[in-house]
Amino acid sequence: MTKPNEMTIVEAARALRARELTVRELWNACAETAHAKNPELNAYLEIFDADESAIDTAQKRINAGDESLLCGIPLAIKDNILIEGKIASAASKMLENYKATYDATVIKKLKDAGALFLGRTNMDEFAMGSSTEHSAFGPTKNPHDTSRVPGGSSGGSAVAVVANLCIAALGSDTGGSVRQPAAHTGIVGLKPTYGAVSRSGLIAMGSSLDQIGPLAKSVEDTRILYETIRGIDPLDSTTIPENLYGVLAPPKRLRVGVPRHLFTEGVDKDVLATFNTTLEKLAGAGHTLVDVELPMSSHALAAYYVIMPAEVSTNLARLDGIRYGLGVRGDTLLEDYIQSRTEGFGEETRRRILLGTFVLSSGYIDAYYKKADAARAVLRQEYTDAFKKADVIAFPTTPSPAFKFGEKSDPLTMYLEDIFTVTANLTGMPAISIPMGFVEREGKKLPVGIHFTAPHQSENSLFAVGEAV
Ligand code: GLN
Repeated sequence: MTKPNEMTIVEAARALRARELTVRELWNACAETAHAKNPELNAYLEIFDADESAIDTAQKRINAGDESLLCGIPLAIKDNILIEGKIASAASKMLENYKATYDATVIKKLKDAGALFLGRTNMDEFAMGSSTEHSAFGPTKNPHDTSRVPGGSSGGSAVAVVANLCIAALGSDTGGSVRQPAAHTGIVGLKPTYGAVSRSGLIAMGSSLDQIGPLAKSVEDTRILYETIRGIDPLDSTTIPENLYGVLAPPKRLRVGVPRHLFTEGVDKDVLATFNTTLEKLAGAGHTLVDVELPMSSHALAAYYVIMPAEVSTNLARLDGIRYGLGVRGDTLLEDYIQSRTEGFGEETRRRILLGTFVLSSGYIDAYYKKADAARAVLRQEYTDAFKKADVIAFPTTPSPAFKFGEKSDPLTMYLEDIFTVTANLTGMPAISIPMGFVEREGKKLPVGIHFTAPHQSENSLFAVGEAV
């Protein structure tokens, strides 16, 4: 029999109802593995003590025939999502001791569903990064090869899932942070349509880009989590009603758009070969491959690295050493600010605050920020047009498999990792990464992912193509 902590949500929910497993046993299996493996992997920044009353209530609900599939399921939560009474540090010295005073809306919804929280997971500081090397509390390791990164910024959540230190997890995705670590660890990761999931209680990075998304062992588990956490929320005015975009059910035979002109350079040849094989299999299963042109896509990364830091600089301005978070006292108010922010923020965070402040400053806002914002509108139109021919558009999730620690020390090389993921955040469209196989490096098998984007609120098309893969 599969060990309890190795189960999917669906398998665990079935075993709990068949009385083959108790909530307590499931919790213990996850917690014991988490405690045993975390010293090496550093997936969790904190593993929580068992909440006896929550475990008890979940068991009672199951005994009474409650149908919520998440009831009694231990989940891992990225350290930038607030759980009342728990620290939420966003892996930063700045918020090292910050205790959340309320539940994020997604947490409230999961609690209502009876889910349990196993711990808070490591990440790049304030979700800025593609490797989880920018955490103030040390990097997370990829269990497929511990000399390599798990991807980021939700690397801790991805590793907690793939190493069976929980059943499933939540991450946040501003430019790929759910999908990219999902690809590098071999699991499923979804970035929902912008506004589908409430951002209330998510520590903001780029407010017009951020979405909370599930990381899970299967497409079905991803769907279950997504269905539970989504919905309009009075606490987040950017959340959208159920069917704002008039979505239809996905067709049986999907039209898969492939922008081949974007893969002519910069994509690892083994990744590209796996991608092509996956597409051929989809075609073999009756789906249609269609060529699509997305000429503006080559500017997406540049637009992202203007818009995102602009929003970062604004969002992190509140961490001034006075109101909350780390406060280091100098002789003057200015010194208070400078010392708190210098000690509180890591190098990458400071770099982005500087960049963001620059692109928003008078004299440069037109040249940079407004131009990037205009590019964003064009990109959205380009995708909308492409979706007249295709139900989903396919990319490799990342240009290469998981890299080694320290390999991408130049920030620009690291930023290139996001080339295929940022567009979905800029356009607000949903996107998913699905494991598509392995490539071999130094005798180790490294997972790689295929990425699909769909029109706004067409998550069902992503689940359909995900199941097909
Ligand atoms: N890797 C991207 C960045 O560093 C995306 C981060 C994210 O999605 N939170 O900005």
